[in-house]
Amino acid sequence: MARYTEASCRLCRREGMKLFLKGDRCYTDKCAMKRSYPPGQHGQGRKKSSEYGIQLREKQKVKRIYGILETQFRNLFEKAEKMNGMAGENLLSLLERRLDNVVYRMGLANSRKEARQLVRHGHFTMNGHKANIPSMVVEVGDVIAVKERSRSSAKLKSLVENFTRVVPNWLEVNVEAMSGKVVSLPTREDIDLEIAEHLIVELYSK
Ligand code: SF4
Repeated sequence: MARYTEASCRLCRREGMKLFLKGDRCYTDKCAMKRSYPPGQHGQGRKKSSEYGIQLREKQKVKRIYGILETQFRNLFEKAEKMNGMAGENLLSLLERRLDNVVYRMGLANSRKEARQLVRHGHFTMNGHKANIPSMVVEVGDVIAVKERSRSSAKLKSLVENFTRVVPNWLEVNVEAMSGKVVSLPTREDIDLEIAEHLIVELYSK
Protein backbone atom coordinates (compact mmCIF):
# COMPACT_ATOMS: atom_id res chain seq x y z
CA MET A 1 0.00 0.00 0.00
CA ALA A 2 1.24 3.52 -0.80
CA ARG A 3 2.61 5.44 2.20
CA TYR A 4 4.61 8.53 2.90
CA THR A 5 8.21 7.58 2.32
CA GLU A 6 9.85 10.97 2.94
CA ALA A 7 12.05 10.94 6.05
CA SER A 8 9.84 11.58 9.08
CA CYS A 9 11.87 14.46 10.51
CA ARG A 10 11.79 16.20 7.16
CA LEU A 11 7.99 16.18 7.32
CA CYS A 12 8.08 17.91 10.73
CA ARG A 13 10.42 20.56 9.39
CA ARG A 14 8.16 21.06 6.40
CA GLU A 15 5.16 21.66 8.69
CA GLY A 16 7.17 23.76 11.14
CA MET A 17 6.15 21.74 14.17
CA LYS A 18 6.79 18.43 15.91
CA LEU A 19 4.48 15.78 14.47
CA PHE A 20 5.84 13.04 16.78
CA LEU A 21 6.44 10.53 13.99
CA LYS A 22 9.46 8.71 15.43
CA GLY A 23 8.37 7.60 18.87
CA ASP A 24 10.87 8.03 21.71
CA ARG A 25 13.35 9.98 19.61
CA CYS A 26 10.81 12.84 19.35
CA TYR A 27 11.15 13.46 23.10
CA THR A 28 14.95 13.65 23.09
CA ASP A 29 17.42 16.30 21.97
CA LYS A 30 18.00 14.23 18.84
CA CYS A 31 14.75 15.73 17.51
CA ALA A 32 15.43 17.58 14.26
CA MET A 33 12.95 20.34 15.08
CA LYS A 34 15.71 22.51 16.49
CA ARG A 35 15.88 23.83 12.95
CA SER A 36 12.70 25.83 12.48
CA TYR A 37 12.95 26.45 8.72
CA PRO A 38 11.48 24.09 6.09
CA PRO A 39 13.75 21.46 4.46
CA GLY A 40 15.40 21.91 1.10
CA GLN A 41 17.93 24.25 -0.41
CA HIS A 42 15.48 27.19 -0.48
CA GLY A 43 13.78 26.38 2.80
CA GLN A 44 14.98 29.52 4.55
CA GLY A 45 13.88 31.92 1.84
CA ARG A 46 10.24 30.91 1.31
CA LYS A 47 7.60 33.58 0.73
CA LYS A 48 4.46 34.11 2.84
CA SER A 49 1.72 31.61 1.95
CA SER A 50 -1.62 32.44 0.34
CA GLU A 51 -4.91 31.59 2.11
CA TYR A 52 -5.15 28.46 -0.05
CA GLY A 53 -1.54 27.56 0.78
CA ILE A 54 -2.21 27.82 4.52
CA GLN A 55 -5.32 25.63 4.25
CA LEU A 56 -3.45 23.09 2.15
CA ARG A 57 -0.56 22.93 4.63
CA GLU A 58 -2.96 22.32 7.52
CA LYS A 59 -4.51 19.40 5.68
CA GLN A 60 -1.08 17.96 4.82
CA LYS A 61 -0.01 18.33 8.43
CA VAL A 62 -2.99 16.36 9.75
CA LYS A 63 -2.56 13.65 7.10
CA ARG A 64 1.07 13.32 8.13
CA ILE A 65 0.32 13.18 11.86
CA TYR A 66 -2.09 10.28 11.33
CA GLY A 67 -0.09 8.82 8.43
CA ILE A 68 -2.89 8.56 5.92
CA LEU A 69 -3.19 9.37 2.23
CA GLU A 70 -5.52 11.70 0.36
CA THR A 71 -8.27 9.29 -0.71
CA GLN A 72 -8.75 7.87 2.79
CA PHE A 73 -8.60 11.37 4.27
CA ARG A 74 -11.18 12.70 1.83
CA ASN A 75 -13.48 9.73 2.53
CA LEU A 76 -13.26 10.40 6.26
CA PHE A 77 -14.05 14.06 5.66
CA GLU A 78 -17.15 13.14 3.66
CA LYS A 79 -18.24 10.86 6.49
CA ALA A 80 -17.55 13.66 9.02
CA GLU A 81 -19.70 16.10 7.02
CA LYS A 82 -22.70 13.76 7.22
CA MET A 83 -22.46 13.40 11.01
CA ASN A 84 -24.18 15.71 13.50
CA GLY A 85 -22.03 18.60 14.72
CA MET A 86 -19.03 20.39 13.22
CA ALA A 87 -17.38 18.66 10.28
CA GLY A 88 -13.83 19.60 11.40
CA GLU A 89 -14.29 18.21 14.91
CA ASN A 90 -16.01 15.10 13.55
CA LEU A 91 -13.05 14.56 11.21
CA LEU A 92 -10.55 14.70 14.09
CA SER A 93 -12.71 12.38 16.17
CA LEU A 94 -12.85 9.83 13.31
CA LEU A 95 -9.07 10.04 12.89
CA GLU A 96 -8.58 9.44 16.62
CA ARG A 97 -10.89 6.44 16.48
CA ARG A 98 -8.80 4.62 13.87
CA LEU A 99 -7.51 1.37 15.33
CA ASP A 100 -3.83 2.26 14.71
CA ASN A 101 -4.26 5.54 16.60
CA VAL A 102 -6.11 3.78 19.44
CA VAL A 103 -3.21 1.31 19.84
CA TYR A 104 -0.79 4.26 19.91
CA ARG A 105 -2.94 6.17 22.42
CA MET A 106 -3.14 3.05 24.59
CA GLY A 107 0.67 3.16 24.84
CA LEU A 108 1.15 -0.13 22.99
CA ALA A 109 3.28 1.46 20.27
CA ASN A 110 5.82 4.28 20.27
CA SER A 111 4.36 6.00 17.22
CA ARG A 112 1.32 5.72 14.98
CA LYS A 113 3.55 4.23 12.30
CA GLU A 114 4.67 1.48 14.65
CA ALA A 115 1.07 0.93 15.77
CA ARG A 116 0.00 0.49 12.15
CA GLN A 117 2.70 -2.10 11.63
CA LEU A 118 1.77 -4.03 14.78
CA VAL A 119 -1.91 -4.02 13.79
CA ARG A 120 -1.13 -5.20 10.25
CA HIS A 121 1.00 -8.00 11.64
CA GLY A 122 -2.05 -9.30 13.49
CA HIS A 123 -1.00 -8.63 17.10
CA PHE A 124 -4.41 -7.24 18.18
CA THR A 125 -7.99 -8.31 18.64
CA MET A 126 -11.13 -6.23 18.89
CA ASN A 127 -13.94 -7.67 21.01
CA GLY A 128 -12.14 -11.00 20.86
CA HIS A 129 -11.89 -11.11 17.07
CA LYS A 130 -8.88 -10.66 14.80
CA ALA A 131 -8.33 -6.95 14.02
CA ASN A 132 -5.57 -6.34 11.49
CA ILE A 133 -6.95 -3.36 9.57
CA PRO A 134 -5.42 -0.09 10.84
CA SER A 135 -8.26 2.03 9.43
CA MET A 136 -11.00 0.23 11.43
CA VAL A 137 -12.96 2.83 13.41
CA VAL A 138 -13.71 1.94 17.04
CA GLU A 139 -17.05 2.47 18.79
CA VAL A 140 -17.92 2.99 22.46
CA GLY A 141 -17.65 -0.33 24.31
CA ASP A 142 -15.08 -1.87 21.96
CA VAL A 143 -12.30 -3.77 23.71
CA ILE A 144 -8.90 -3.79 22.03
CA ALA A 145 -6.32 -6.26 23.29
CA VAL A 146 -2.99 -7.78 22.40
CA LYS A 147 -3.58 -11.26 21.01
CA GLU A 148 -2.82 -14.06 23.50
CA ARG A 149 0.03 -15.40 21.36
CA SER A 150 1.63 -11.97 20.99
CA ARG A 151 1.78 -11.19 24.73
CA SER A 152 5.23 -12.74 25.02
CA SER A 153 6.60 -10.56 22.20
CA ALA A 154 9.74 -8.76 23.41
CA LYS A 155 8.60 -5.54 21.76
CA LEU A 156 5.20 -5.46 23.45
CA LYS A 157 6.59 -6.58 26.81
CA SER A 158 9.14 -3.78 26.72
CA LEU A 159 6.42 -1.22 25.87
CA VAL A 160 4.35 -2.37 28.83
CA GLU A 161 7.33 -2.41 31.22
CA ASN A 162 8.25 1.14 30.23
CA PHE A 163 4.69 2.43 30.08
CA THR A 164 4.60 6.19 30.71
CA ARG A 165 1.93 7.32 28.25
CA VAL A 166 -0.86 9.59 29.45
CA VAL A 167 -3.97 7.78 28.24
CA PRO A 168 -6.79 10.06 27.04
CA ASN A 169 -10.06 10.13 29.02
CA TRP A 170 -12.02 8.34 26.31
CA LEU A 171 -9.93 5.18 26.76
CA GLU A 172 -9.49 2.92 29.76
CA VAL A 173 -6.30 0.88 29.72
CA ASN A 174 -5.28 -2.18 31.70
CA VAL A 175 -1.53 -2.19 31.11
CA GLU A 176 -0.85 -5.60 32.71
CA ALA A 177 -3.62 -7.22 30.67
CA MET A 178 -2.40 -5.39 27.53
CA SER A 179 -5.95 -4.31 26.75
CA GLY A 180 -8.10 -1.23 26.64
CA LYS A 181 -11.72 -0.21 26.29
CA VAL A 182 -13.33 2.72 24.49
CA VAL A 183 -15.42 4.38 27.21
CA SER A 184 -16.61 7.38 25.18
CA LEU A 185 -16.03 8.97 21.81
CA PRO A 186 -13.12 11.44 21.64
CA THR A 187 -14.17 15.09 21.66
CA ARG A 188 -12.11 18.06 20.46
CA GLU A 189 -10.91 18.71 24.03
CA ASP A 190 -9.47 15.20 24.16
CA ILE A 191 -7.22 15.80 21.15
CA ASP A 192 -3.95 17.34 22.30
CA LEU A 193 -2.75 18.41 18.87
CA GLU A 194 -2.27 21.90 17.50
CA ILE A 195 -4.68 21.67 14.59
CA ALA A 196 -6.85 24.37 13.03
CA GLU A 197 -9.42 21.98 11.58
CA HIS A 198 -11.60 24.83 10.24
CA LEU A 199 -8.89 25.43 7.61
CA ILE A 200 -9.41 21.90 6.27
CA VAL A 201 -13.17 22.41 6.15
CA GLU A 202 -12.63 25.67 4.25
CA LEU A 203 -10.27 23.97 1.82
CA TYR A 204 -12.68 21.16 0.99
CA SER A 205 -15.61 23.59 0.74
CA LYS A 206 -14.07 25.50 -2.17
FE1 SF4 B 1 9.49 15.11 14.19
FE2 SF4 B 1 10.06 13.21 15.92
FE3 SF4 B 1 11.80 13.81 13.96
FE4 SF4 B 1 11.41 15.48 16.03
S1 SF4 B 1 12.29 13.42 16.10
S2 SF4 B 1 11.51 16.05 13.88
S3 SF4 B 1 9.20 15.24 16.38
S4 SF4 B 1 9.74 12.94 13.74
